[in-house]
Order: sequence, then C-alpha cells, then structure tokens
Amino acid sequence: QGLGPQVAVDYRDEWEELPAGFTGDGRVSVFVSISRGCNKNCTYCIVPTTRGAEVSRAIEEIKREVRIAAHRGAREITLLGQTVNSYGLDLTPRRSFVGLLEELSQIEGIERIRFTSPHPQEIRSDFVELVCSNPKICRHVHMPLQSGSDRILKLMNRNYRRKRYLGIIEEIKARVPDMAITTDVIVGFPGETEADFQETMEILEAVQFDNSFSFMFSPRPGTPAAAMEDTVSPEEKLERLQRFQARQFEITTARLQAWVGKTAEVLLEGPSVSNPDCLQGRISQNITLNLDAPYPQAKPGQILQVEVQHASRYTLRGKLLSVVQTEAVQTEAVQTEAVQAEAVQAGSV
Ligand code: SF4
Repeated sequence: QGLGPQVAVDYRDEWEELPAGFTGDGRVSVFVSISRGCNKNCTYCIVPTTRGAEVSRAIEEIKREVRIAAHRGAREITLLGQTVNSYGLDLTPRRSFVGLLEELSQIEGIERIRFTSPHPQEIRSDFVELVCSNPKICRHVHMPLQSGSDRILKLMNRNYRRKRYLGIIEEIKARVPDMAITTDVIVGFPGETEADFQETMEILEAVQFDNSFSFMFSPRPGTPAAAMEDTVSPEEKLERLQRFQARQFEITTARLQAWVGKTAEVLLEGPSVSNPDCLQGRISQNITLNLDAPYPQAKPGQILQVEVQHASRYTLRGKLLSVVQTEAVQTEAVQTEAVQAEAVQAGSV
C-alpha cells in the first residue's frame, strides 16, 4: 500500500505471465504488459537468461487491450516491462515508448497512465517532455538507481553514471516539482566499500526519493555477479541496508506530511482496505488515500478532489471536496459497439 513503488526485479517474472487479453475484470486500475525479456545485462540479474531478449507486443494489440479494459471500467493503466522505455525498438517498423504513451493517452476513458520501470540509459528529452506535459501521465516516475557509486554501477554493468541519473531527475523536477520519484537500490554489491555506499546515501539526500525498494545483494546462480568475490560481510550488508532504510523512512514520512492541508486528486478505487465503511483511492503520485467517510455520491472510477488532513506511515487520509467530471464519466453512456466487438474478438468477454 501507500507509495508501494511498483515491483522489484525479483517479481517481474510474474508480469510476463499475465494472460493474453488480460483486462482486469472491471477493475478501475489494470496492468498491461507491453514487452517481455530484457536486452540489458546487469551482472546481478537472471532475467535476460530466463526470459531472453526483449520482445515488444504489437502496438495495435496493446491498444486493443487498453480499449477493452476502458470499456470494462478501467480508468488507470500501468504499463509493465523490464525496461519499458526501450519498448518498440525491436519492432518493424520501429516504435517508441513515447509514441506508445501518446497513443494510449488518447484512448477514451483512460484517465491515468503509469509505467514501470524506465531504464535511465534509455531516457531521452522526448520522454521527459511527454511525462512532464501529458496530463494523463501520472506524476510519478520509478527509476531504478541500484547504486550511487560509478565504480559499482560499472561492476553492475548499469550503463549510466550518477551524474546522468541526477541530471534526469533535475530536469524532471525543474519541470514538475511535485513529481514523485521512487527507486530500487542494492546495497552490499561485491566490492562495495563504505565510501561507495556513502555515494548511494548522497543520492538519497540529493533526490529525496519519495520511497524506494532496497535490498541486500544476494548472488543469483549463473549471473556474473555470483562469480565475483563477495567482499561485504552479511553484517555489513545488513547494517548498510538498515541505515539506508532508516533515512528513507524519515524522508518518506516528511514527504507524506507535506501533503497535509493540500488538495489532491484521487482516483477512487473502492472501499478502504483498513475500514470497509470508508473509501480508498490513489493520488497521481501513487500514494494511497483513504476518505474519512463513505460518501455515497462518489463512485469507483471517479476522480475526486480531496483535502488531505492526515498522513500516516504510508498513506494519507482526507475529506471529499468534490467529484471531478471526467471524460470517462461523460462518455460512459456512449461506449461504442466497436469496442464490444473487439472484446468478443479478443475472447475476453
Ligand atoms: Fe535485469 Fe538489468 Fe534487465 Fe532490469 S535492466 S531486467 S535488472 S538485466
């Protein structure tokens, strides 16, 4: 719950198991796989071996899936891929992730688009431009860092350096100061010294990540990193992880507190998990927000203006100010027969 930033590498295999034509069964928010496999070769990762080279799905197939999901009530999609922003480079003719985002953002009924995860190496100015300017793209970028040390990034075969990573964040934040930034970090990679780890801590301070997934390095058999000398003791790894997580927790708490008193737009998902008599949704920055009352006038799939009144460990709570009249609500009654026919053709109804 809460910022719950997406999914770390270990769980990504599951994304690729989503059945073809998966459309979320009428849920407000659905996942859509756009590619499988990976062309990178991070030395700690087994995905390229188990999943093979990256294969992108045809853009028409993705669009059809999203149209069907929208017809069934989805208002938010999360695009999944190991490195989503290299989408389409293997297709003929070539496609781009930015082009895919533009096309999907035009689909009637879809109000919000998320994606995970972009690889810093593939991020270009057109990506930053679109993410910062397209109102349907959520104000949340999850960009794996893994390490703040250039030396360790090189050992990991992550083909970017801290300067470039920070430069991308700076560009995004200059355009959209309230963009939430989350990340993945590995501590205790073979050869990581205390000085290397401090460089990771420096980036945590510089970026003030809204949240992160952080892990201790553990070798995956068959990967190049598994053959490296594991120079960091389990105690040191744990101690570094705890230091990182403790500081991250402070930052996350402060970032959540900063929402109190502000107005946020919430996509309503349904009853609150903690209190089924109340409602729950997420703000654009991917933070779960619980409403303080049932509000019978509010329906799942609607976007609500909410005054944030309270921040807890991972979630926000607030009171309803108004229901925003969305394109989805306006057009719900005029869904075309063509979409229904597509659903039948896709075998998903
Ligand atoms: Fe693994 Fe690296 Fe590919 Fe991510 S980008 S799936 S970590 S090889």
